Amino acid sequence: MLSALLDLLYPPACIACAKVLPGAGSHFCETCDTALERLPPACCLTCAEPGTFPGGRCHRCRAAPPPFSRAWAPFSHEGPLARAIHRFKYEDHPELAAPLGELLADEARSFLDKAPAFVVALPLHTRRYHARKYDQAQLLVGVLAKRIGREAPVGWLTRTRETQRQVGLSETERANNMADAFTASSMVKGREVLLVDDVFTTGATARAAAVALRGAGATRVEVLTVARAFSLA
Ligand SMILES: [Zn+2]
Ligand SMILES: [Zn+2]
Repeated sequence: MLSALLDLLYPPACIACAKVLPGAGSHFCETCDTALERLPPACCLTCAEPGTFPGGRCHRCRAAPPPFSRAWAPFSHEGPLARAIHRFKYEDHPELAAPLGELLADEARSFLDKAPAFVVALPLHTRRYHARKYDQAQLLVGVLAKRIGREAPVGWLTRTRETQRQVGLSETERANNMADAFTASSMVKGREVLLVDDVFTTGATARAAAVALRGAGATRVEVLTVARAFSLA
């Protein structure tokens, strides 16, 4: 009765183009659903860069092994999925955390089977949080953790400041500058952590967060995002 009433007030709609859907069975309309781009099955075992590589690892991961053991996303950051994430992040649609979190849980099932038990959001800086009024990664983590029956501890990872201007800094200084943008609590010591965010772009933020977690004693860090951008290929 209540759900019928809710459907009447807020009819189920495509999360990418907002077209009203005939039923609540799907997150996308037919047009958007057929345009979804999933990540190719052949990709780097560490960072999911598409392609076939010697030893299963891409050149970047072999040259500079990342501080996380796996990063993966079910979708490419293209088309309808990118539109849905944009609406969720920048167009004041926090309610899209539910369909996106469910979608992530369902599409990443085999990755999640072997992933760390504790799910932690890549935190947003407080200033951006105040501008946006919600932390999209935290909302996503809430939905995901509930759906897969895992713990989502709060306060394990915080962003202590915005990244400083990088002008005039050496490569190493830049890496350090980014790394202490995050602080991990001593609670992570001896634990394995699954970091969750909406999009994996260059991986610099995930690397910095993983360095902070490992520095505080986390034994393994993995990264899961809804989508992955391939700007570096
Ligand atoms: Zn649509
Ligand atoms: Zn790689």
